[in-house]
Amino acid sequence: MTSTQATDPNDIDALRQRYSLERERRVRTDGARQYRRTEAEFGYYAADPYAGEVAAREPLTDTVDVAVIGGGFGGILAGARMRQQGVGRVRIVEKGGDFGGTWYWNRYPGIHCDIESHVYLPMLDETGYVPEWKYAPGEEIRRHAVRIAEKYDLYPDALFSTAVTSLTWDQASETWIVATDRGDAFHATYVVTATGTLSEPKLPGIPGIETFQGHTFHTSRWDYSYTGGTPDGGMTGLRGKRVGIVGTGATGVQAIPMLAEDAEHVYVFQRTPSSVDVRANRRTTAADVGADREGWARERRENFLAIVSGEQADQDLVADGWTASAALLEKLLPSFRRDEQGPSFEAAYELADAAKMNELRARVEQTVTDPDTAEKLKPWYRYACKRPTFSDKYYASFNRDNVSLVDTADTHGIERITEQGAVVGDDTYELDCLIFATGFSVGVSGIFSGTLPVHGRGGTQLLHAWAQQGPRTLHGFTGNGFPNLIHMGSLHNASSVNFTHILDEQAVHAAALVAAAETACALIEPSPEAEDAWAAVMAKDAADHEWFHAGCTPGYYNREGLGRPNTASAYPHGAFTFHQLLKQWREESIGEVLQPKAAL
Ligand code: NDP
Repeated sequence: MTSTQATDPNDIDALRQRYSLERERRVRTDGARQYRRTEAEFGYYAADPYAGEVAAREPLTDTVDVAVIGGGFGGILAGARMRQQGVGRVRIVEKGGDFGGTWYWNRYPGIHCDIESHVYLPMLDETGYVPEWKYAPGEEIRRHAVRIAEKYDLYPDALFSTAVTSLTWDQASETWIVATDRGDAFHATYVVTATGTLSEPKLPGIPGIETFQGHTFHTSRWDYSYTGGTPDGGMTGLRGKRVGIVGTGATGVQAIPMLAEDAEHVYVFQRTPSSVDVRANRRTTAADVGADREGWARERRENFLAIVSGEQADQDLVADGWTASAALLEKLLPSFRRDEQGPSFEAAYELADAAKMNELRARVEQTVTDPDTAEKLKPWYRYACKRPTFSDKYYASFNRDNVSLVDTADTHGIERITEQGAVVGDDTYELDCLIFATGFSVGVSGIFSGTLPVHGRGGTQLLHAWAQQGPRTLHGFTGNGFPNLIHMGSLHNASSVNFTHILDEQAVHAAALVAAAETACALIEPSPEAEDAWAAVMAKDAADHEWFHAGCTPGYYNREGLGRPNTASAYPHGAFTFHQLLKQWREESIGEVLQPKAAL
């Protein structure tokens, strides 16, 4: 069966077969090795287009209470929650020229968050801000990050355009020495790593990519000096230009309709189509979300998390595409227990999944007028095999005369790039500009990058220790041999589509750990036994998820079709339960990780 043959939408066996064939068509033996990191000769793809000229400064050798690596929402929330606990000097070190993380770097045209803004933007109760749209534009989100940083006075000690290059535990002072690429070597009593999960832009390893003579950039470093315009459009620099865009994930789906409005011609190089559901963005008022009640945002966020984690909830406050598909998302989430559900449950799941995916495929047919293009845009995999996307403009773009879909599934992507453009099969596409919407390296930022070695007690290097025995943590936050070092991220912790909620719970926890250590005049360091117990809990996660990911089309969710990376191992009973576990542990057992200081 080829990709263009019809499949009976109600025939589950035929769907299974189709999904399997489409997966086989795409799996590459080189897995994640097909990509190039944006470093060395490709480093210019990752350069900061927004920082302007970086002012020279003297290296720092002082001592702060807390150093936070990363100035995205994770780092900002860590700083804010530390402030609420009364911590004095908090120094956030950030590669970019300002706070914002993802929302600092990603400013591509059309950028919005497709998680409802009233649950995505953190600290709305604390800042009194009420978002203006159901799905906020990127700039509104970036400004909110700045708002929190200002409110909690995080600017004075922050170091921007600075990358941490190593962390070394100094036994004599019982502090960390934080070294950076600006020559700093300052001390911090506590260090929080908040380096993000999708922060290193990646490029496809297409032969000849370096030979292209036209203009080129990655979507996370949008070059408005070339395109003109803003994230709202008006890219007059693209008039008369032939633009190629590689990638049709959540970013491509948002950027392509904007390019279509301004470029002479847009060639969309697609390898796997996204599922694109209804977006229905609209302006919202404070009354719409009950923002006059104290704690309204917290309540709404908890309600959303409960629903997408498969918990029972009396009402659905957000009521959008995510919550409507919660029963399907659950299969992707750690709380799903396949073995406890039984065969009848699995059959019901397949029917529900088929109904949803048929609905999405029908959406393509109803919108795209050319049948061949419509067929190529249909996603043939289970819901959430790839990150679901939402747009009311994407499919309609392909009805325009100046947009061409170039399907590259059979050739595993663009085959070759030349000085003039891209080659797929027998066709060469001449381009003035080639934009990579090809996503981010997973599991290589921060402590996983190799460019940020962490030396704990006795000089033990964190990644060497983990390479031998697998990741060792308590709750994902702390580890034996690495006192006062607190990690934020999903490893050994929780994950959810609303990741800022996860980060905020982590920030609350990190600040509580620091406050407890300060009160007890102690170090934060779990015992090896506590790590063993937590590793056993995590081992369950890997087994529970393999079945789902093994049947999926390749992507960063499943290590390009080869299985889940061990850096993805998360708490197996879901984020909602995990947050309850952490709260109870803080109330009853936090003293377990407090160790006497040698210096006392
Ligand atoms: P993704 O990794 O999701 O998508 C990358 C795209 O590039 C895929 O379509 C991929 O195809 C394609 N690609 C890679 N290599 C090639 C090649 N050689 N030839 C052709 N195509 C290729 O990156 P995104 O930037 O779209 O999204 C990353 C994540 O960022 C999202 O999953 C989401 O978590 C987040 N995001 C969130 C948004 C929000 O609103 N909350 C908005 C945007 C992003 P294939 O699928 O075949 O590998």
